[in-house]
Amino acid sequence: MNVEKILNILKKEFEKWPEDKATVKKMIRVHNNEPFKSLVMAVLSTQTKDSITSEISKKLFEIADSPKKILALTDQELEKLLKPISFYKRKAKYIKEISRIIIEKYNGNIPNSYEEIIKFPGVGRKVANVFLSNVYKKDVIAVDIHVHRISNRLGWVKTKNPLQTEKELYKVIPKHLWKDINLYLVAFGQVICSHKPKCSICPISQLCPYPNKNLHF
Ligand code: SF4
Repeated sequence: MNVEKILNILKKEFEKWPEDKATVKKMIRVHNNEPFKSLVMAVLSTQTKDSITSEISKKLFEIADSPKKILALTDQELEKLLKPISFYKRKAKYIKEISRIIIEKYNGNIPNSYEEIIKFPGVGRKVANVFLSNVYKKDVIAVDIHVHRISNRLGWVKTKNPLQTEKELYKVIPKHLWKDINLYLVAFGQVICSHKPKCSICPISQLCPYPNKNLHF
């Protein structure tokens, strides 16, 4: 398996990719890996473009960047702030409930275990793993559509859906690389190995067995 070699190449390329293409970089700039902001953005980002999530989150955090400040907003004020986000009314409820739980149950701290994070409203398996790997550097693999698609193209796994991919990746990827998989494959998927891969400009083309790569010029 060439996972480590590929990740090392992607880490170097990552630095060069612009934020308007590698939009995950914009997300990181806004939450700065601060636990509360990261968790809020992870919840807001489901079924919403990173560019919209980043822009709206930035405005939200200028007004309310802590559980206490979120709870000080009325439902209407919070909904108005989140409006361009998909399912903003439902997500406004989630964020208020998350803020309440953080204050009442965790004394203002954000828990760092999967079992606790997954209990928050609006947090599913992918959101929990993205949060834990990126913010707390936990050894977990967060699989979204980019990770699923690229892992299959690179021949690391042969799977039909993200959950299968996650299970198989745990078997074939060395543990010390688990926490890096999501960030670098998502950025790579946003810039190059997207739905229609740009194989002609791919920095890992020589390492990729994807059979149709030469067709995508
Ligand atoms: S060669 Fe094409 S399919 Fe393979 S990793 Fe690069 S962009 Fe993706």
